[in-house]
Amino acid sequence: SKYSKRDIMKLVEEEDVEFIRLQFTDIHGMFKNVAITSSQLNKALDNRCMFDGSLIDGFVGIEESDLYLYPDYDTLQIFPWRPQQGKVARLICDVHRTNGEAFEGDPRYILKKVIREAQDMGYTFEVGPECEFFLFHTDDSGQPTTTTHEKAGYFDISPVDLGENARRDMVLTLEEMGFEIESSHHEVASGQHEIDFKYDEALTTADNIMTFKLAVRTIAKRHGLHATFMPKPKYGVHGSGMHTNMSLHRDGKNIFNDPSDSAGLSKEAYYFIGGIMKHIRAMTAVTNPIVNSYKRLVPGFEAPVYIAWSAVNRSPLIRIPSNKGEKTRVELRCPDASSNPYLALAVCLAAGLDGIRNQIMPPDSIDRNIFELTEQEREAMGIGMLPGTLIEAVQALEEDLYIQNVLGDHICRRYLEAKKAEWTAYRTQVTSWEIGEYLYKI
Ligand code: GLN
Ligand code: MG
Ligand code: MG
Ligand code: MG
Repeated sequence: SKYSKRDIMKLVEEEDVEFIRLQFTDIHGMFKNVAITSSQLNKALDNRCMFDGSLIDGFVGIEESDLYLYPDYDTLQIFPWRPQQGKVARLICDVHRTNGEAFEGDPRYILKKVIREAQDMGYTFEVGPECEFFLFHTDDSGQPTTTTHEKAGYFDISPVDLGENARRDMVLTLEEMGFEIESSHHEVASGQHEIDFKYDEALTTADNIMTFKLAVRTIAKRHGLHATFMPKPKYGVHGSGMHTNMSLHRDGKNIFNDPSDSAGLSKEAYYFIGGIMKHIRAMTAVTNPIVNSYKRLVPGFEAPVYIAWSAVNRSPLIRIPSNKGEKTRVELRCPDASSNPYLALAVCLAAGLDGIRNQIMPPDSIDRNIFELTEQEREAMGIGMLPGTLIEAVQALEEDLYIQNVLGDHICRRYLEAKKAEWTAYRTQVTSWEIGEYLYKI
């Protein structure tokens, strides 16, 4: 690892760090933390910090509630937005049981487990996400709204406005935190933005996504704005996705690349795509985990609806970007940033590995705009659809034992239960759309 215990103690001393937040993630992708002062750091670094796991979603019951935090030394990070005297730093932690074993309800452990499987096959999994989000105004009492006064669109350059200043501040803050920001731009909808950071090994990327969301929300707040990663905050305009760019490497070389192939892809890349396409309906329960996720996956807003891949067209679920060589990658376009990144990357990698192990060839690429095909044409070409609602995705997950097994018993059981409860809560609501549509005429 990058830092030793000594390094961390020294850094905390030299940088005048007062508080250290020990962070971990619940099964729904919520970042949690407990703060300690630097006087307790020695103990924390020796994995002796305990917490009550029974209050964390999807963790444990009260009868077995003690869990321990094992800090990952490499994740040490000072929060630049906190006071510069008596600084605040954080460490991302793994969660363990009292007997020392890794806790199977810890999403980070699930991702590590699949990464280890990939390693046994000789692979490193590199992932680059493209996180989109909206910046909205807050009301007089500070509550978030879905209002933006901003009128810009895709790649627009706006005159000095709050959104642009906020985005600039976000980029600089993230850079200060060690992120390599590749680009940032205004997205299609008013108030919608995207900031892309450089790909990295999957565990680091999942940690980065958690940190990214925290930083973006924090900086937005400093500008009097609310940042939301909600997939479809507004009817009738684009939603926010988290396109996920993936490649496998062996001995530091990208093995998805094969210049002799017409699409520039190796057979591992084809199998990886085949595995994802095989499992995607169950995977969406994880990559698109909330009721609102499925309001994004509709025609007309550059979000995928049909299960297909293409090297030239953006309408399918999977796209092969034109950069090749070391940059050859598979872009999965359905995930959104409401997902738990550890679990989302775990199911993506596992599905890809299943493809490789079983040499699952994907169907031919669809190089036309799928949205222009008729239903009959799609059927004839064997193009399936992503789940249309959360409950369809949950049912698909219930039918896919392989993906269930990736999540493991502990998480799978609690996850399915929570998602069904979410669906029921939603299903029984009477929405303003219904009132508008029916109250008057029926
Ligand atoms: N916002 C679109 C989505 O929902 C993507 C648009 C884009 O990045 N070209 O996935
Ligand atoms: Mg993008
Ligand atoms: Mg985008
Ligand atoms: Mg993209």
